[in-house]
Amino acid sequence: MKLLEGKNVIITGASRGIGKGIAQIFGQHGANVAFTYSSSEAPALELQKELEDMGVKAKAYKSNAASYEDSEALVAQVLEDFDGRIDVLINNAGITKDNLLMRMGEEDFDSVVEINLKSVFNMTKAVQRTMLKQRKGSIINMSSVVGIKGNAGQANYAASKAGMIGFTKSIALELGSRNIRCNAIAPGFIETEMTDKLDEKTVQGWRDSIPLKRGGKPEDVANACLFLASDLSDYVTGQVLSVDGGMLT
Ligand code: NAP
Repeated sequence: MKLLEGKNVIITGASRGIGKGIAQIFGQHGANVAFTYSSSEAPALELQKELEDMGVKAKAYKSNAASYEDSEALVAQVLEDFDGRIDVLINNAGITKDNLLMRMGEEDFDSVVEINLKSVFNMTKAVQRTMLKQRKGSIINMSSVVGIKGNAGQANYAASKAGMIGFTKSIALELGSRNIRCNAIAPGFIETEMTDKLDEKTVQGWRDSIPLKRGGKPEDVANACLFLASDLSDYVTGQVLSVDGGMLT
């Protein structure tokens, strides 16, 4: 059964990793997918083609999620390209710039907060009017277990991800009466290019400490997004769904 047949979806940061996994699963479920990237043009165009071959409409846009103007322009263009409707927004774009506070520069803090958190404000503002008019919409924000628990060496990232949770709950309260839902996902350790940078010994240690004894895959997160984007979750809003193999349990 296709759960997103004909729905128009925007995913930020889908040229690789979790965002790409979401785009692929959504395409398989019949969604039309507009997605952004920051610099990976070739992989983005490849994904666009892969999605089109599934028989859905797809388009890659180069857009900086941290920029208010870019986000406004992006949503205006998507509305033009995708018949004036946006059913689902997934704020997935994110970066890390890890360091102990002692060594963390101001720029490392600001850029992480702008790309991870301000982007959520930018994009939610930009789709709000359309979703209000539709009296329907699902917004999904990609937070992290680190936003719930904190992590030494990631004060900037943890602050941005915790901020996303506060934003998510506030928007759920504000827009619930218009049938616009807003939820967050808190992935644990998902093996992507973002985590490839880490050394293998550390990674194995993490795998061993997770109750399900493995790192997550982009599809694991994508399937949780599928639930939150589809009508199966029509009565679910303001929640933070951990997809972490039991890591925080
Ligand atoms: P990733 O592999 O590094 O991919 C990041 C994506 O975001 C790429 O498509 C990148 O585009 C895009 N991007 C970066 N800066 C952007 C900007 N300013 N504007 C628009 N797009 C931008 O990361 P990932 O591991 O898939 O993570 C995706 C999300 O899940 C992030 O929010 C991350 O914090 C969160 N998360 C990940 C994990 C994990 O274990 N992997 C755990 C918890 C939460 P380019 O390819 O063009 O650079």
